[in-house]
Amino acid sequence: LVVLDDVNKHFGDLHVLKDINLTVHEGEVVVVIGPSGSGKSTLCRTINRLENFESGSITIDGTKLPEEGKALAQLRADVGMVFQSFNLFSHKTILENVTLGPVKARGKKPAEAKKRAMELLERVGVAHQAEKYPAQLSGGQQQRVAIARSLAMEPRVMLFDEPTSALDPEMINEVLDVMTSLAHSGMTMIVVTHEMGFARKAADRVVFMSDGAIVEENTPEEFFTNPQSARAKDFLGKIL
Ligand code: ATP
Ligand code: MG
Repeated sequence: LVVLDDVNKHFGDLHVLKDINLTVHEGEVVVVIGPSGSGKSTLCRTINRLENFESGSITIDGTKLPEEGKALAQLRADVGMVFQSFNLFSHKTILENVTLGPVKARGKKPAEAKKRAMELLERVGVAHQAEKYPAQLSGGQQQRVAIARSLAMEPRVMLFDEPTSALDPEMINEVLDVMTSLAHSGMTMIVVTHEMGFARKAADRVVFMSDGAIVEENTPEEFFTNPQSARAKDFLGKIL
């Protein structure tokens, strides 16, 4: 579904993505881990075309990432993204946050969008907060709203960039549970996270990045018990 072929990107002198080759199949959950600065966020942002890249190609369902214009907007709607910070519209209610995109960008009728939004809010466990404003919710609740908001656009693939790293410990699991159930529902997902429990439970594959390159790719079982590269061993030694 998502194919990166020899993707290269620089920030000035910094070669931040080095010959990235990555294929994510429909329904697959790929967890990306690696040290700080290894290029994980840049990889996500590049897949969503929030960042340009210099060479190589990225295709989604066989369609090459367009450079700009309407096709890009359509494609971005196919790729949902949830960031570390929740990025909800603070002056809109929870319900409005989830209906705005489908109505404005997907041309859905408001009543239909509202019905769907309530289903999604139910699914992530915050339906009873629908009329509140983001600041009235906990961080974990806000992040679950952010997930519902992304899902409302009916994306083909969901990107998560450290969705729990800004949360207090007791709120991390409620977000990971939503992500795990999403994974089990067959959603195609690329997840940057340091939550190894999630990786073990939900990932089909772990991709380890270091210095802008994919150094290792394996099943979670193999990766955690038997890392191949020195860099992966070193990294796991520090976080486990
Ligand atoms: P972390 O685990 O800390 O989130 P990361 O793996 O997500 O790290 P990136 O944010 O992708 O890493 O950054 C990769 C490298 O690119 C870093 O060295 C960073 O300083 C650099 N970088 C990121 N964004 C920019 C930018 N807009 N301009 C210049 N350099 C950047
Ligand atoms: Mg990052």
